[in-house]
Amino acid sequence: MNSSEGMPKAKRSNSNPAQVCSFCGEKAAHEVLRSRSFGCGGKLIVIEDIPTMECSNCRETYYTGGTLKTLDSLLSNPARITKK
Ligand SMILES: [Zn+2]
Repeated sequence: MNSSEGMPKAKRSNSNPAQVCSFCGEKAAHEVLRSRSFGCGGKLIVIEDIPTMECSNCRETYYTGGTLKTLDSLLSNPARITKK
């Protein structure tokens, strides 16, 4: 796996309690880290390790408000996430 050097590491406990899913309302959503590609001005940007809510009941995945804000700022300033 990647050694996330230079990346700020959020302290995360191992326990990952289920949260209420925004789609089906069941307490079955867990936060997981997923990679995702975004189209951005004709370019494709891949952002790794996005905290994503994944529901084990309805299989929906979605982002919370804070994550959306972070993605927004990353996509509006792609230089920050370009890896070379
Ligand atoms: Zn659900």
